[in-house]
Amino acid sequence: MANRIQAIRGVSDILPERSPAWRELEQVLIDVLDSYGYQEIRLPIMEKTEVFARAIGEHTDIVSKEMYSFADRNDDSITLRPEGTAGCVRAGLQHGLFHNQTQRLWYLGPMFRHERPQKGRYRQFHQIGVEAYGMAGPDIDAELILLCQRLWRQLGLDGLQLELNSLGSTESRAAYREVLVDYFGQHRDQLDDDSRRRLEHNPLRILDSKNPDMQALIADAPALADHLDDESRAHFAGLCELLTAAGIDYVINPRLVRGLDYYNHTVFEWTTDQLGAQATVCAGGRYDRLIEQVGGPPTPAIGFAIGLERLLELLGLDPGPRQPHVYIVTGEGAAARALQLADQLRDALPGLRVMSHCGGGSLKSQFKRADRNGALLALILADDELASDRVTVKPLRGQGEQHSVAQAAAADTVKELLAAAALPETDSTPQ
Ligand code: ATP
Ligand code: MG
Repeated sequence: MANRIQAIRGVSDILPERSPAWRELEQVLIDVLDSYGYQEIRLPIMEKTEVFARAIGEHTDIVSKEMYSFADRNDDSITLRPEGTAGCVRAGLQHGLFHNQTQRLWYLGPMFRHERPQKGRYRQFHQIGVEAYGMAGPDIDAELILLCQRLWRQLGLDGLQLELNSLGSTESRAAYREVLVDYFGQHRDQLDDDSRRRLEHNPLRILDSKNPDMQALIADAPALADHLDDESRAHFAGLCELLTAAGIDYVINPRLVRGLDYYNHTVFEWTTDQLGAQATVCAGGRYDRLIEQVGGPPTPAIGFAIGLERLLELLGLDPGPRQPHVYIVTGEGAAARALQLADQLRDALPGLRVMSHCGGGSLKSQFKRADRNGALLALILADDELASDRVTVKPLRGQGEQHSVAQAAAADTVKELLAAAALPETDSTPQ
């Protein structure tokens, strides 16, 4: 037998039995974002490679080794988006969204990174990203964190921990960088290969190393907090005050530096102890200098992204498939009337899911199909029914006896039977 083609490693199909869970999760997220006045922006999945290279930084993990980049037929370098912020900034600049105005935006969709696939880490994964532009104070930082907190609450999640840090202004971050290069440079012999590479281009990331042999060295490194300038300190203290006033618990993690070059001031992550190594569900921070750096007006900015696969794993949402309420069993020659009756029911009962049998076969095999699809009622249209303008109603889940009604009364009968049946909550009864 020929080898069957498989999906790319780390790239998943979301099958019909899981898609209701995704939809339910997305709806909760969107409703919360709506309630804060955030607006959706739909961004392209591919961009010119420079969009990411310039914004995220050449020496980050993402740009240096994780991007799906290719030359298109014109030999332009194109990249499948590894994250949403860079494209959002590109779009905002292109359409003048940053001129003398504030923006509160969100987007949702697949991202692509060439990483080693494992639980919670995939090559195509989904993020919902939230970005706020034009607001410099810690109040918007706090708003985003409160928004996250509300999301967790709406989803019934507790036990997520908020970790916070400040990277300081670009100036204090640069000054700290020097101090750090100096310190790690003096202990070059204790650095692993990764860290030696980072020392040159991205020394803050050494603090982020997971290598146990490096932990003692890292623990003794000069702390960023001791190198913040007054403005940076005031911003961070302001945020901490707002969070405390809102009753939000947080932990200050001085080693939280985040992988992307563009962050300054506030950075944060929401983590869990229930997902093993892939513990971060949501991550973000401020990036006040990015827009200017890629050629736009100076625009304060902050955002975060949630990894939806990790969130779903944590939630274990299982609303089950969306089974039809009604399955129309169709005798020979009844196809036209069956399609009509199905539409008549959909018109009369918004929200009703009606499947009409296609593909012929015996009535018995059609009942089997109805049952396998999880339908609650079968409506039968065969010779007798066609001749008498009636339809036979057969409850499939113990809602009474089979009986016959006039076709014109079918919608009323369906409505009554469904109202009487105790339907699961996720499977809303049509109004
Ligand atoms: P990590 O340290 O886990 O690689 P990151 O810093 O690269 O994370 P971000 O770019 O901040 O991650 O992305 C935000 C969120 O998106 C992460 O917290 C995570 O929930 C999710 N995420 C990132 N990369 C992946 C991936 N390859 N597969 C699944 N989810 C991911
Ligand atoms: Mg990563």
